[in-house]
Amino acid sequence: MDENDDDGPPPPAARWEKNTPMSDVTLSVIIPLYREGRHLAESLGVIRRHLDALNETYEFCLVDDGSDDDTWQVINTLSQSMPQLRAIRFSRNFGKEAALAAGLEISRGRAMIIMDGDLQHPPELIPRMVGLWTEGNEIVDAVKSERGRESALYKFLATAFNALMCRLSGFDLHGASDFKLLDRRAADAWLRLRENRTFYRGITEWIGFRHARLPFVVPSRADGKSAW
Ligand code: UDP
Ligand code: MG
Repeated sequence: MDENDDDGPPPPAARWEKNTPMSDVTLSVIIPLYREGRHLAESLGVIRRHLDALNETYEFCLVDDGSDDDTWQVINTLSQSMPQLRAIRFSRNFGKEAALAAGLEISRGRAMIIMDGDLQHPPELIPRMVGLWTEGNEIVDAVKSERGRESALYKFLATAFNALMCRLSGFDLHGASDFKLLDRRAADAWLRLRENRTFYRGITEWIGFRHARLPFVVPSRADGKSAW
C-alpha cells in the first residue's frame, strides 16, 4: 500500500492521471495473490499460453496481498524470465478488494483482464473476452453458470450476500464473478470514484458502460484452499 496512506486517498484526478500514460501494452492481466506460491508458476504458465496465442502485447500486474508463504519469492524468480511481469507487494494482508484496486491503479493496458491466481477463472475464456471487447463491449463479465465445488456454508453465504446486494442496490449479482475484462475507459471511470473501501464487482456494474456476459463453470482450485 502507498506509504502516504495516513493522509487519506489522493484526489480522484491525481489517481486517474497516474494511470493515464499509456504504453503500447494492449492487455493488462491483473491477479490478486494471497498464499498462491505453490502453484503460481503453473497458473501463470497456463494463462500465458492463452495470451501468447492472441498475438497482442500484454503485461501481468500481480499484487501480493501480504502473503506469508513464498508468493513474493516466486514472483521475483519468475520475473527474471518474464519481462512482462510487474508486481507490487502489500505490507500485510489487506484483502482481495484492496488488491484488485491496486492492480487497476498500476495497470497500463488498453484493456484489463482481472482474474484469480488459482485457475478457478478459466484462462481459455480470455480469447472470447478479448473478441467481445474488440466488437465494442467495454466490460465483459464472466458469469458463473455453475458454482463448482464449495462447502454448503460458503454456498449459503454467497447466495445470501448476492440476494441482499440485489435488494439494496437493485443490481442482480447472481452468478457474478470477479473475472472480467474492463476497457481502459471503464477502468478509468472506476478509478475516478472517491471510494476507498471498494466492492469491485458491484462498482463495475454500477458505472454502466456496454456489458457482455460470458458463462463459465467454476473449476476446482489449482491447489491449496479458499482464503474465504
Ligand atoms: N486473495 C487475495 N487476498 C485475500 C484472499 C484472496 O488477494 O485476502 C486472492 C487469491 O489469491 C485468489 C483470489 O483472491 O487469487 C480468490 O481467492 P480464493 O481462491 O481464496 O477465493 P474463492 O475462489 O474461494 O472465492
Ligand atoms: Mg479460488
